[in-house]
Amino acid sequence: RPRLFSGIQPTNDSLHLGNYLGALANWVPLQAEYDAIYSVVDLHAITLPQEPAVLRHRTRVTAAQFLAAGIDPVRSIVFCQSHVPEHAELAWVLSCITGFGEASRMTQFKDKASREGTDGSGVGLFTYPILQAADILLYDADAVPVGEDQRQHLELSRDLAQRFNHRFGETFVVPRPHIVKETAKIADLQNPEKKMSKSLGGSGCLDLLDDPKASAKKIRSAVTDAGREIAFDPENKPGVSNLLTILSALSGTDVPTLVSKFEGAGYGDLKKEVAEAYLGFVEPFQARVEELMTDEQALDDILADGARRARALAAPKLAEAYDKVGFLRGR
Ligand code: ATP
Ligand code: MG
Repeated sequence: RPRLFSGIQPTNDSLHLGNYLGALANWVPLQAEYDAIYSVVDLHAITLPQEPAVLRHRTRVTAAQFLAAGIDPVRSIVFCQSHVPEHAELAWVLSCITGFGEASRMTQFKDKASREGTDGSGVGLFTYPILQAADILLYDADAVPVGEDQRQHLELSRDLAQRFNHRFGETFVVPRPHIVKETAKIADLQNPEKKMSKSLGGSGCLDLLDDPKASAKKIRSAVTDAGREIAFDPENKPGVSNLLTILSALSGTDVPTLVSKFEGAGYGDLKKEVAEAYLGFVEPFQARVEELMTDEQALDDILADGARRARALAAPKLAEAYDKVGFLRGR
């Protein structure tokens, strides 16, 4: 069966609706077609400052959200990135074949560094996409299900795989992004030009573990657009189009059907229905997360088992890469 890798950073207690619709919700059905490997990527999380005790909690609660969404840790591998040292080791090798200019062109670094101020950001934030390439290439992943914001990083992963193979001989599978167009970029409710994001947060971000009533309020206060017509037009009506995208994904009804259903209705009617659909999804989701979090030992055991299975794949791959590079065999 083809292999698949994806990860989410534990940079917040709660994932947001963009993470869910753009990533997690797609991960679940893919388990039927792929040998799937899903990671809580804590090495990535420390590219921005984290409080140690908080990071530990966030790592567990992020794993709990994977499971609550429907990831099956028996069928798929669910693990914590820092438990598999091969990620950092391969990242070093890949960083040595990455051009400085090439890394400098990554737009997410520019976005996040401009928020922190370039002098305030660590080198890890700069090399993040190289670590991400290592995450994927270690497992010979054919596909990587991500949101649109990761397309450029995936392109770098492909380039690095091809470059390594060309220079040292066939070693890595060249991965392809698996991006579901409809939900690839869920926008911030207050600022629909921007993607919903953990590091931005705020009143435009629907955190899955927030009080559902507060989330319903955020939906009712979402920025809509000039005019009154409910139409799907991401260019001119980004706010309304985002709400239609969300409702479509949560209800399983396609956008054109929704548009004709809301003919003659107002923005308020649309928001009301989005809020209802969201609550219908999020309330049982929260109950599952809460239940999983009552047994931390069980969660840690799942992650330990996942790490063992991940390492069994990653260790021989790293050994092969080390050998190709010309390192003397030490083990
Ligand atoms: P951060 O702001 O800390 O980078 P994030 O919200 O971007 O957090 P990540 O952990 O970086 O979340 O990304 C996890 C997954 O969620 C990735 O596959 C990413 O493409 C996807 N994703 C993130 N934001 C959105 C969004 N607004 N719409 C669709 N997919 C998204
Ligand atoms: Mg991100």
